[in-house]
Amino acid sequence: MHEKDNLKYPWDDHPAPGNTVEVAPGVRWLSMPMPGSLSHINLYLLEDKAGWWVVDTGLALPDVTELWHQIFSQELGNRPVIGVICTHMHPDHIGQAAMITDYFKCPLYMTRAEYYQARAFAGGGASHHSSWLGQQFYERAGMPSDYLEQLARMWSQRSSEGMSMPDMPSGYQRLTNGQVLTIGRNDWQIVVGSGHSPEHACLYSAALKVMISGDQILPIITSNVSVHPTEPEANPLKDWMDSHDRFLSTPSDTLVLPAHNLPFYGVRERLRGLIGHHDDRMLAIEEACVEPHVAKDLLPVLFARELDPRQMMMALGEAIAHVHLLMYRNRIERILHEDGRYRFLSIDPDLPRRAHPGTHDAPSDGPVMV
Ligand SMILES: [Zn+2]
Repeated sequence: MHEKDNLKYPWDDHPAPGNTVEVAPGVRWLSMPMPGSLSHINLYLLEDKAGWWVVDTGLALPDVTELWHQIFSQELGNRPVIGVICTHMHPDHIGQAAMITDYFKCPLYMTRAEYYQARAFAGGGASHHSSWLGQQFYERAGMPSDYLEQLARMWSQRSSEGMSMPDMPSGYQRLTNGQVLTIGRNDWQIVVGSGHSPEHACLYSAALKVMISGDQILPIITSNVSVHPTEPEANPLKDWMDSHDRFLSTPSDTLVLPAHNLPFYGVRERLRGLIGHHDDRMLAIEEACVEPHVAKDLLPVLFARELDPRQMMMALGEAIAHVHLLMYRNRIERILHEDGRYRFLSIDPDLPRRAHPGTHDAPSDGPVMV
């Protein structure tokens, strides 16, 4: 057990590739490799009478498929996988869903919005970036005119790293908020959050005091919360903050099993920390916007380092998510100028009282691609 930033971590390391570790009765933890700074995703196995349930699946890369077959033959006690649950539609979570459900002929469980969004983006559905909507979105944010070409090159690179959207199973079983799955001796309640993805499912067992949190609650890195050209007026940070308020009722002695970093205790401390983090980022943006700013020029307020085109897309999406929530709270006004760019201006007369420039959290090293 080690402790950092008010969180307690019962394990110091990830399970070795191809191995599993029991983290609660009938709950096993494994990790799959990922390229880049994330390096891994955590996946979980739940033991049922007739076999195992898999929660999240890893990227669609040959190495990961091979490790799964090692798990199937060595870690499941000669019993099959009988259900696959994907918390949400990102490629590191759904990449092996088709492989596992085909291999065992078992159902895929997801929420409806996550399943259909995954289907929509599969097979090159991300090419919306080359539409006039994408063009207009990035122009208005102050990006250079060749940014879409930079993005197109990025997407073709991404697919070779296993980060493109995989083909999905052709059908699924729907998960809904509050639904209970009985797996072995345990009831798992589906708790839906939003903001990082549209209808993200977490699994909570009151008897075990365990929550499998996917990317909804992570202990160290902050999940990406972005506005994208597919829904340019979206307000995902509002969904994210509202979700955090609801998740604050999770009992404080819950063991959280996240998709990245290590399992931890301290769910309420972490959620309060994240709420404070986003409030601080929004206040720093308000302080910058006493002079009108385009979205692109807000990036140094949020992020410390140079960003490549792909990180730029996530960073810009996050900056816009923060100004959209500020607009919703009547603290920022958006004006479309003749040059085709949005300028953001702080309008809250109370800002001078709330402002404390120079004492904010340092810009983060991110964004992290989760
Ligand atoms: Zn994710």
